[in-house]
Amino acid sequence: MSGDLKSGLDRLAIRGQRSDMAGKRAAFQTIGCRLNQAETAVLREMFVEAGYEIVPFGTPADVVVINTCTVTLESESKCRQTIRKAVRTSPEARVGVVGCYVQVAPELLASIPGVEIVAGTEHKFDVFSHLTGPRPERPTVLHTRRISRELFSIPVTGDFQDVTRANVKVQDGCGFVCSFCIIPRARGGPRSRRFEDILRESRALIEHGHRELVLTGVNIGTYWDGERDFLAVVRAVSELDGLARLRISSIEPTTVADGVLELMHASPRLCRYLHLPLQSGSDGVLQRMRRKYTASEYRRFVERFAELAPEGGLGTDVMVGFPGETAKEHGETVALLKDLPFTYLHVFPFSLRPGTAAERAGDLLPKAVIQERSQELRELSARFRERFAKAQRGMVRRVVWESRDEGGRWQGWTDEYVRVVRATAAGGESLPVERVRMGDYNGRLVEVSPFGASADLVSERKESGH
Ligand code: SF4
Repeated sequence: MSGDLKSGLDRLAIRGQRSDMAGKRAAFQTIGCRLNQAETAVLREMFVEAGYEIVPFGTPADVVVINTCTVTLESESKCRQTIRKAVRTSPEARVGVVGCYVQVAPELLASIPGVEIVAGTEHKFDVFSHLTGPRPERPTVLHTRRISRELFSIPVTGDFQDVTRANVKVQDGCGFVCSFCIIPRARGGPRSRRFEDILRESRALIEHGHRELVLTGVNIGTYWDGERDFLAVVRAVSELDGLARLRISSIEPTTVADGVLELMHASPRLCRYLHLPLQSGSDGVLQRMRRKYTASEYRRFVERFAELAPEGGLGTDVMVGFPGETAKEHGETVALLKDLPFTYLHVFPFSLRPGTAAERAGDLLPKAVIQERSQELRELSARFRERFAKAQRGMVRRVVWESRDEGGRWQGWTDEYVRVVRATAAGGESLPVERVRMGDYNGRLVEVSPFGASADLVSERKESGH
């Protein structure tokens, strides 16, 4: 069977195993991006359908699945630590390791004591049948270098547990080959999910109570199913009955169709929010990174966004200290960042990723220089966050509440991706969508006066890139 489940018949097979699995516990851990989270949710649902009880990672379990990331050496190290922790916590558990890191280092991960199966990109969902079948005598390696470029379906609806928000995978892989990025090797070339299958899962997630959906993938703006593009996906999902709002995850600047921005302007459901990776504001660095735009082209994308979504949230990724980055080039990045209406930055200090073209670029910068430049941008990001939080004052914003803390306070996010916490415990058991008025900025909190209760605005955002 290939990496994505090809037929609804597979679901029947999963259900058929339910009686054998009663009383068994499964735990999951995801390292990396939103797309990994979406895929773990699918795996979790396969085990739920088979009758497993889902337990938190780090507690004893019969099966543990770890969905890995390979984007930096640091994330790989975190994956290995997570695997060892799983084996320590549940020495008898059947441990499966899947995803991007497996795709680039299958044998290494299979050699970690306690790992029963490793499955690369093309086979990640196959761990279910292996971990619920007979136990092998030695570790199983499911891995092929060739990754399909065909349209795909995932006829399982992700299990996002209790959260109001759910991720929907619409696309996988990337053909852009930026020189610092290992993802095209780990996830293969671009491919899209069948349009009808996206709508099927989206409808099912809405039926399960999710009020916000996030469209996710590696390079979502390149979606193409042979007839329909990403705009068609956004439009169709945004029109589904029962959906409160739709968000687009990180999207490459050159792939944002004007129609998507126009829809953001016109649709009350599509969030006025973009995460638009910049990486550098210097044309020289952008060229060495093999990015597909110049700084002035990027500026025009943002200006168009600001025109159609003037109060929208705008985040970006910046890579600091790319090989050969001069002080002048870094200065160009800082100048561009200051000039555009960003609401936050994700700052990535460059670290050499073996297997990428940047490995051969030479001219590595001293760590101290990279750290100093990164710190400068983090401080800039903090100022952007504060500026944006202050700008919320007096605004009426829509909040989709997601969870309650121990004191019973609800927390959620505005369309612009500002985190909001109600100052007082909410009355009802469920309070998924509400319009609130933002108040004065006061350090980290802003008093707000929603219609009928008070709340705090927290000037903090958490968002992963790809
Ligand atoms: S940075 Fe993004 S666009 Fe560039 S190769 Fe990696 S996944 Fe593709």
